[in-house]
Amino acid sequence: MTDSLDDSDAGPDTSEDSEYELSSDDAADDQSSQTPDLDDVVLDNLDTGSSDDSDEASRGLFDDLLEGEPIFENKEVLRPSYTPHKLPHREEQINNMATILVTALRGDTPSNILIYGKTGTGKTASAKFVSEELETTSQKYEVPCEVEYINCEVTDTQYRVLAQLANKFINKNVDVIDDRIETLEDTLSRAREDATALEGTEFDSVDALEAEIDALESDKDDFEEVPMTGWPTDRVYSSFFDAVDYHERVVVIMLDEIDKLVEKSGDDTLYNLSRMNSELENSRVSIMGISNDLKFTDFLDPRVKSSLGEEEIVFPPYDANQLRDILQARADVAFKGSALSDDVIPLCAAFAAQEHGDARRALDLLRTAGELAERDQTDQVEEDHVRQAQEKIELDRVVEVVRTLPTQSKIVLFAIILLEKNGVRNINTGEVFNIYKNLCEEIDADVLTQRRVTDLISELDMLGIVNAVVVSKGRYGRTKEISLSVPTEETEAVLLSDSRLGDIDDVQPFVQARFDN
Ligand code: ADP
Ligand code: MG
Repeated sequence: MTDSLDDSDAGPDTSEDSEYELSSDDAADDQSSQTPDLDDVVLDNLDTGSSDDSDEASRGLFDDLLEGEPIFENKEVLRPSYTPHKLPHREEQINNMATILVTALRGDTPSNILIYGKTGTGKTASAKFVSEELETTSQKYEVPCEVEYINCEVTDTQYRVLAQLANKFINKNVDVIDDRIETLEDTLSRAREDATALEGTEFDSVDALEAEIDALESDKDDFEEVPMTGWPTDRVYSSFFDAVDYHERVVVIMLDEIDKLVEKSGDDTLYNLSRMNSELENSRVSIMGISNDLKFTDFLDPRVKSSLGEEEIVFPPYDANQLRDILQARADVAFKGSALSDDVIPLCAAFAAQEHGDARRALDLLRTAGELAERDQTDQVEEDHVRQAQEKIELDRVVEVVRTLPTQSKIVLFAIILLEKNGVRNINTGEVFNIYKNLCEEIDADVLTQRRVTDLISELDMLGIVNAVVVSKGRYGRTKEISLSVPTEETEAVLLSDSRLGDIDDVQPFVQARFDN
C-alpha cells in the first residue's frame, strides 16, 4: 500500500521536475538567442506596429512568467512597509495608548509611555496607526498636537536623534511662518489701498503690520538646519529646544527600537528629552518608547527609568488563531479569489506561532509561498509552497547571520564545518581550537585563547548556528559536544565569500593537523 502510494507520488514529481528543467532550458535558449536582438525587436515593433510573425520570435524570458493566472491581486499588502488600517487582536493595546494620548487633544501633556513586546507583535504598526489618528483628530479640532516618529535602529546616536527632531520642527515652523506671512502680505496689500482692511485685525497701522512681517522673516532666518554631523551636541539640543518651543503645541516623540539607541549610545538622549518639560515655555513634550527588549530599562538612570515608564503597555505574542485572523484579513486583499488552498493560512500561522508568535514571519511566509507558487506557474498556493517558504526564510536568516559574524567567530565556525565535513562526530572544544589556531596562523589573524573560543562557540549556539551540549565524561570531567545546526554547504559558501577566509584554498592540512596535536 505505502509503496504504491509512494510510487504514484514519485510519478508526477519527477515529471514536474523534468518539465521545470525543460522550461528553464527553453528560457535560457530564448534568452541567449534573443539578447543581441533585443534592440531590434523593440525597434521593429515600433516601426511596423508589431506583426504576428515577430511575436513568435520575441517570446523571451518574461513571456512564460506573464502568461499564467496571476496569484497576487496586490502583493504590497504583504510587505513590511505596508501599514494596515485594521489591527485585529490589538484593540486593547490601541485603546490603552489612545486613552493616555487623548490628554494631548485637551492641550495637556500626556504621560510618557513605554511599549514592550517581542518582534512582530504589532508594536510599530499600532503606534503608527495611533499617531495618524491622533494627528487627524488634532487637525479636526484645531488643537496643536504633533507626533514625530523616529526609528532608533537607523537613527542611533543622541546627535542624530536630536538633529533629526530639530530639522523636522524647523521645517514645520518655517511652513507655519510662510503661511502666516502670506496671509499678512495679503492683508498688507489691501490695507495699502484701503486702511479699513486693518479693522478687526490685531494691527492698528500698516507700519505695525510691516513690522510683524519683518519679525517673522527674521525668525525664519534664525532657524538654521542642523547638519548631520559636526556641531557640538549642546548646540544641536538647543536648536531642537528652540524649534519645539517656537509656538504652543503638544509634541509626542515616538522612539521606536529605543533599546537599540540605549545599547549604542547610552541614556543621555532620554535624560535630556525627559527633563525638557520643566524648561519649555510654550510647548510640552511627551515620549513614547517602543522596545523589543524587556530588560533594557535595567540600563537606564533611575530618574530616566521612572520618567519614561510612567505608563507601560505590553504587547504579548500572538497565538496561532490570532495569526490566522491577521493573515486572513491581509490575504483577502493580497490574493486573487481562489489562489489560496485551505491549508495555507493555518500552516503559515502555525509556523509563525512557533517563532514566538511573530506576525512579520507569518506575513513573510505567506508572501514567499505565493511567490514560489508564482514561480511554479501554478494558479494556487499549496501547503508545500509554505513548507518551501519556511525553508527558504530560515536559510536566508542563517546566511545573513553568518555573513555578518565577526571574523573570529567565522574562523571558529569554519573549523567546526571542516571537522563535520571530515566525518568527525561529537566534536569537542579542544578539536575546534586546534583547527581554529591553524586557520588563524594561515590567514594572519590573532589567535584567541581557548577560553575565548569557548565563549564564541556559546555565542554561535545562542544564534542557533551550532548546537553545543555539555556532556559529563564521568571522572574525566565535562566537555562540550558541538554539532552544526545549519546546512553545511550553504554555510561554508557564505564563509568562503569572506575575503579573508576565501584566501585559504587547501583546507585538508588543517583537518589533518588535528591528529598531530
Ligand atoms: P513589531 O514592531 O512589534 O516588531 P510590527 O508592528 O512591525 O511588529 O508588525 C510586523 C508585521 O505584522 C507588520 O507587517 C504589521 O503590519 C503586521 N501586523 C502585526 N500585528 C498585526 C495585526 N494585529 N493586524 C494586522 N497586521 C499586523
Ligand atoms: Mg517594530
